[in-house]
Order: sequence, then structure tokens, then C-alpha cells
Amino acid sequence: MSAERPSSLSNEVKPESVSLCPLGTAAVAPERELLCVFGTGDFGRSLGQCLLQSGYRVVYGSRRPHSCGPLPQGAQVMSHAAAAQQSSVVFLCVHRQHYDFLETLAPQLKGKVLVDVSNNLKKNLYPEANAEYLQRLIPGAHVVKAFNTLSAWALQNGPSDANRQVYLCGDSAEAKRAVTDIGTKLGFTVLDRGTLSAARELEDFPLRLFPEWRLPLRIATGLTAFFFFYLLIRDVIYAYVEQDKDISFRIMVSLANKVFPIVSLIMLSLCYLPGVIAAVLQLYRGTKYRRFPDWLDRWMLCRKQLGLIALGFAFLHVLYTLIIPIRYYVRYKIAESTISKIKENRTTEFDLTTAWRADSYYSMGILGFGLYLLLGITSLPSVSNALSWREFSFIQSKLGYLTLFFCTFHTYLYGWDRFLRPSSYKWYSPAGYMLSLVVPSVVLVLKLLLILPCVDRSLTRVRQGWERTDPEEESRKTLLT
Ligand code: NAP
Repeated sequence: MSAERPSSLSNEVKPESVSLCPLGTAAVAPERELLCVFGTGDFGRSLGQCLLQSGYRVVYGSRRPHSCGPLPQGAQVMSHAAAAQQSSVVFLCVHRQHYDFLETLAPQLKGKVLVDVSNNLKKNLYPEANAEYLQRLIPGAHVVKAFNTLSAWALQNGPSDANRQVYLCGDSAEAKRAVTDIGTKLGFTVLDRGTLSAARELEDFPLRLFPEWRLPLRIATGLTAFFFFYLLIRDVIYAYVEQDKDISFRIMVSLANKVFPIVSLIMLSLCYLPGVIAAVLQLYRGTKYRRFPDWLDRWMLCRKQLGLIALGFAFLHVLYTLIIPIRYYVRYKIAESTISKIKENRTTEFDLTTAWRADSYYSMGILGFGLYLLLGITSLPSVSNALSWREFSFIQSKLGYLTLFFCTFHTYLYGWDRFLRPSSYKWYSPAGYMLSLVVPSVVLVLKLLLILPCVDRSLTRVRQGWERTDPEEESRKTLLT
């Protein structure tokens, strides 16, 4: 909320607002601007409260001025026609299906700024946007679409990070300026989206449900389902069919703890693959001024969401790994092996290679997860806003590739000599972790090629605006000039 809000306000000019000017003559503080709000429902009341706290006076226009329930302290209430006459700006906090009553108020609303805050329950519910319909109903008013992307709750709580922006559009520049001033005084950042024809777009904004998460969530669901069934067949069904063993209990922890890291690693590499493809395209085309294909643009725009979902899967992998020592199956196996060794008076030699491999495997996993967390934290707006562009890209790009390297190496160490063992290829199919290594390995190899000095030099030149020209075309141009 803006700092200039007085704590308690009424719609009367208070006696304290009359002060003595230096010359000793009485000076009257300018009267606070009066704004009109039609509708005493949730949104109307929150908006009125917010306006009062920001130093405006508020008059409500209501169908039932004498029985409309409690209103913010200091606000007046009267009939629509009387209220409209009081102010040059009218906020219409009424649902679109009730707009008909405004037609009779056309004379009172003539020349006024009419702010339409309405939303619809569904997209394309009506043939035209609510604001355009309103403008058609009251052609003499200057309709501005604004504030509809905020909720009544957000208005009461004041501008916070997620609700700082107010979008507006309208055909009258003066009307938009008046609404912008009000929005700014309320503590919001006002963004002008152009003429009233943009109203439908603004009305569709609140109906969007995590639009930029849709593709990453679909990828995550698809990969999880695929690897779950793949591993179910390779591990559980294979053991049942070939060895007559029921290991279905493994679905809950073992199988889950295989699927999560696989999906996490693939999704992390999918964050970096579009950047590598874009670099290869720029090198191939010899220019950065040709647009990338739409699918690549869309892919690049959802990298943050891909990364955050990948982090979620990595987190699950860590949790599942931590419970391994307390699992009944693991405790049973350890006890059984120890007892049988004692019975047979047998010991196993300490294997230095296995010790190195196991420690390196855990170490890579921990380092990878640590950097993974750092990437996730720095992608949060409150943290990334505190970083310069260079700092942000250093973490997300350089440390990001390092994270991918650690996690990929962690998986290679997990495989170790199993890559060469025929028993790893049950029913001639590779293990899940082997499949998960394909995309990250491709990304890392391509990145390695791109940072070779000769390739990097060409890419930097292209990114600084250099363009490769066709020598024949060039000589033709020279001849023509
Ligand atoms: P609400 O609580 O149902 O209030 C609507 C108000 O409209 C009523 O209190 C009533 O005020 C007036 N009204 C009802 N029927 C009417 C009629 N037949 N003729 C004239 N006026 C009538 O709805 P709301 O949640 O405040 O929403 C109001 C508008 O704000 C809607 O267009 C909505 O899309 C938009 N909006 C709401 C939110 C939100 O979070 N609630 C967020 C963004 C946008 P009187 O009894 O005083 O006449």
C-alpha cells in the first residue's frame, strides 16, 4: 500500500485541514477527489476501502442505498443517478449481465470516465468484450477497462509482488490518464495495453490457469508415466515371469526412486537443450536476426518451469534415498547377509574401487543437488530481482551446465560397469537410467563443442550482430550501386 494513506478518513473536509499560511491568512487544503463506485458487492467494497485509504472520497451508487449493508467507513451511498452526478470517474463493480440498467443513466454518465472491472466465468461467453458492450450501451461515456486482473482480496491486502500490476485499455487517452493516476496513487504499476479492442485479452487474463506451466507439466507427466510402466515391466513383471519372484512391493519405494531421478535429469537437460539448439541455428544461419521457429520460442519461454519441476523430482529422489537404511527390505537383506557370513565364517575383502565409486557417486549427487537448489532459489522473482543480469545468467547458465554435468556424472557412476553387463539388458531393453543419459549427454557434448574457441568466436560475432553474407549476392549489390 502507498505510504501516504491517512489512517482514518471521512468524506467530510476536516477542520484540521484548514491551516494558517506563512502570511497569516487562512488556507484551505484542496478538497480530496470524489470517486463513484457502482455496486456495493465484494469488489466494490474492497475498491472503495482502498480508495478511501489512499486519500480519495467515495460515493457508492446502489439499487438499495438504504439497505446495502456495511460499507467502508467514510463512504457515502445514494442512488445510481445521484452518485454518478457527483464524480467524473465511475467504477462499475457490477456483473456484465446487469449492465442494462445503465442505459437509463446515459445522460448522467455522458462525458464521464466509466471504469469496467468485470470478468467472465468462461472465455468467449459473449460475442464482444464486456467493455466494448458497455461502450456500445453508453456511447457518450469514456469506457476504460481496468483493475479486472485483481481480486477483491488482493485489493484489500494491497499491492504485493504477484498483484502489483494493473492493466488498462481504452479509446480515450485522457480517460486512461485519469485511471492511471488513480491506480498509481493506490500503489499499483499501471500498464497501458492500448485501445478498447484489447479488452477481451484483459478479460481473458484472470481465466488463465498456470499457462506457462502447462507444457512442462505435460512433459513431466508423460515422462513419469512412460518410465513407471517401462520399469514396472523390466523390474517387477520380468522377475515374476522369468524368475517366478513377486517383488511387487518394490513399486512403492524402489521403482519410485528410479523414476524420479530419471525424470529430473531429463527435464534438467531439457532446460538447456533449446539454448544449444538456438546457438547451432544461429551458427548455421550466420545471423541472429532471423526468428527462431515458434516451437523453440515456446520451449525457451518455459525453461524456468521445466527447471522447477525437475528440482521437485530431484527433491523427491533425495527424500526417498534418505529412507533407504530404514526400509524393512534393506534391513532384512543386511541382517541376512551378515548372519550367513558368520555361519559360513566368511568375510568379504574391502574393495577400494567400489569405495571410490560409491563415494564419488554420492558426492556428485550431493553437489548436483546443492547447485540444483541454488538454480531454483535464484529463479524466484524476489531473488532474481536482486541480481544483475550478469549474475543471473552466470548462475543459470554456467552453474546450470555444471549442475547438469554433476547429475549426469552421478548417473554414469551409478551405472559404472553395469553398462557392459549382459544381465543389465533384461528382455534386450536398456535400464531406465541408461535411457535417461541420452539427452543430457547430447546437451553436454554439444555445449562442449560450442565452447571450443573457434566455434565460440563465431557464435559471439553472430550474437554481436555480425551477419554472414553470400559473396555472389554481395558482388551483385556492389555492381548495382
Ligand atoms: P457481487 O459481490 O455479486 O456484487 C455485485 C454488485 O452488483 C451487487 O452487490 C449489487 O450492488 C450490484 N448488482 C447486483 N445485481 C444488480 C442488478 N440487477 N442491477 C444493478 N446492480 C446490481 O460481485 P463482485 O464480486 O463485487 O463483482 C463485481 C464485478 O467486479 C464483476 O463484474 C466481477 O467480474 C468484477 N470483479 C470481481 C472480482 C472479485 O474478486 N470479486 C475480481 C475482479 C473483477 P447493489 O446492491 O449496491 O446495487
